[in-house]
Amino acid sequence: MRVKIIIFFVPTLLLLVTAGAQKIDRSEVNPAMTEFWDNEPEVVTPGKTYGAPPSDALILFDGTGFSEWHSKDGGEVEWALDEGAMTVKPGKGYISTKKKFGSIQLHIEWRTPVDNDKEGQAGGNSGIFLMERYEVQVLNSYKNRTYSNGQAASVYKQYPPMVNASRPKGEWQMYDIIFTAPTFKKNGAVETKAKLTVIHNGVVVQNAVELDGSTVYKGTPYYIPHGEASIVLQDHGDLVSFRNIWVRTL
Ligand code: MG
Repeated sequence: MRVKIIIFFVPTLLLLVTAGAQKIDRSEVNPAMTEFWDNEPEVVTPGKTYGAPPSDALILFDGTGFSEWHSKDGGEVEWALDEGAMTVKPGKGYISTKKKFGSIQLHIEWRTPVDNDKEGQAGGNSGIFLMERYEVQVLNSYKNRTYSNGQAASVYKQYPPMVNASRPKGEWQMYDIIFTAPTFKKNGAVETKAKLTVIHNGVVVQNAVELDGSTVYKGTPYYIPHGEASIVLQDHGDLVSFRNIWVRTL
């Protein structure tokens, strides 16, 4: 019996060990075979501090004026400009970039008003609409509970942030957003969905989430085919401020 077991198991064991240990012999492979030297990446000088624009960024707002923006109807921006920041003037409406964009990296800093004691969605609400239709929520979400997919750094009504990295109202906060534009088939159906990554105050809170369509307040989101479009900042009636806004097209 013992002999039989040895006769069966030893060769099987040897087979398994050798199969597991089998390695591709790369001793004769030239490492240069997998190196490529064409398409050398362009040199970009990074910003000196976190959040400072790199050399190839398009500055959308540096605190001095609204030259890159217009109001929703195409006229002059009527928001307030003070101490290097722009602030929503309630009732003056959304503002949008004059330039249109597809896939981008966007840096934007924002602050919700310190003297706003309203709760939930009324707690310092604004928003950043990529391509005029995909909203990353701006809200005071520091000890201010609302529906999770409507709090700060949510993709509004679609994805809550993975964690709540909010600073208290009155403090400046940052978003670094990496946005991939959707593509559409000739018949108008979505071919590849929009994708969003959001870093909130240095913390990854959205990781390449795939959007189900444009942001809608009521009902489920859906896609309508579109081309490049503006970045839009929301007037939701609250005195939300923005500063240091720059973009890189991807
Ligand atoms: Mg909003």
